[in-house]
Amino acid sequence: MQDQQQAIREIRINPVVPSESVLVATARSMRPREAEVPAPRDTRRHVDECPFCTGNEDKTPPEIARWPDDGPWQVRIVENLYPVLGSDGTTGGLVFGLQQAIDGYGRHEVIIDHHRHGIAVHEMEPGHLAAVLRMYRRRMRELYEMDPRLRYALVFKNFGPAAGASMAHTHSQIIALPVVPQNVHDEVTHSKDYYDRHHRCIFCTLIDEALTFEATIYDRESGRIVRRIGVGQYVIERGERFIAVKPFASRYEWEVHILPLAHASDFLDTEDADLDDLARVLRRTMARLDAVIGGAQYNFFLHSAPRGGDYGDIRASYHWHLEICPRTSIPTGFELGSGLFVNTISPEQAAERLRQVDLDNDDRG
Ligand code: AMP
Ligand code: ZN
Ligand code: ZN
Repeated sequence: MQDQQQAIREIRINPVVPSESVLVATARSMRPREAEVPAPRDTRRHVDECPFCTGNEDKTPPEIARWPDDGPWQVRIVENLYPVLGSDGTTGGLVFGLQQAIDGYGRHEVIIDHHRHGIAVHEMEPGHLAAVLRMYRRRMRELYEMDPRLRYALVFKNFGPAAGASMAHTHSQIIALPVVPQNVHDEVTHSKDYYDRHHRCIFCTLIDEALTFEATIYDRESGRIVRRIGVGQYVIERGERFIAVKPFASRYEWEVHILPLAHASDFLDTEDADLDDLARVLRRTMARLDAVIGGAQYNFFLHSAPRGGDYGDIRASYHWHLEICPRTSIPTGFELGSGLFVNTISPEQAAERLRQVDLDNDDRG
């Protein structure tokens, strides 16, 4: 589409969290940072000295859970050897002048996603990936049941050195916190505000817009087309139960969010069949990102309804989702100083490039 090739320079407001904005500046002269050349990721199948590889099970703390129950393991959960939070808090909460501290109480565990050291998510069998997602669900549920003080269990994955991974073996982590992280808090409260005003979930509204919205915006004076929004322009993948979309305003240029099509606030309410479809949509999305970026290094994380607290009933207003943030450049001083992330490729162009990837030869589902 011709009008999309034109340079865009605009500040876009995140519809869910309006205090978060993004600067979309696609003109080359605006290019504020060089693309990072990330260190290549490790694609080896087995590494003798890797503590997460088969045969080295004694190099990790004891196993918490595994899949399958019998025979060689395919997915394993272990305690983190160097946890950022521990179960033996000592300070009991401190207040000293303006300095306040909450006890660093919590849990930090590692999910070894696959026995194969350097396998990427889109290379995993769909059934295996669904099992990984079921392990996330199982462990989140167990952690919440174990201790009512835990208010948020954050599941996330760092993949590749550009995404901050210190271990090359494919893994996810779960950190259970005694507080609700700010990002989740902001989403929960802003979506509740929207619900109170419009009696609709904002995420469901965004999905509807992504699937049906069409608009042409003209410049008032010249009559020139400023922007054309087509049906499905932000949709990357659609499964039976999940959709992958490129947010209209996103911090990372290749950021993609995956949401359940049917409204649901809590990842823990998913059925196995949901996770089968999520695994398909996630694999295909990762395959697209990997093809376009040329070896995607990324973080992904789950945002789901927190436990306890003073939010009231958020079942109708909050909508759980997975956010995938590929790391192709390092945030600069401008971004850290302003909180305004810069996109040098517009979300519309990024979505189009992701959709163009031909996955038809992908016979693994
Ligand atoms: P990342 O920084 O994403 O690569 O996460 C790897 C995590 O694995 C870090 O949080 C480490 O503390 C943890 N870790 C490193 N070595 C071991 C080990 N032998 N057993 C269990 N966890 C480990
Ligand atoms: Zn390994
Ligand atoms: Zn919803």
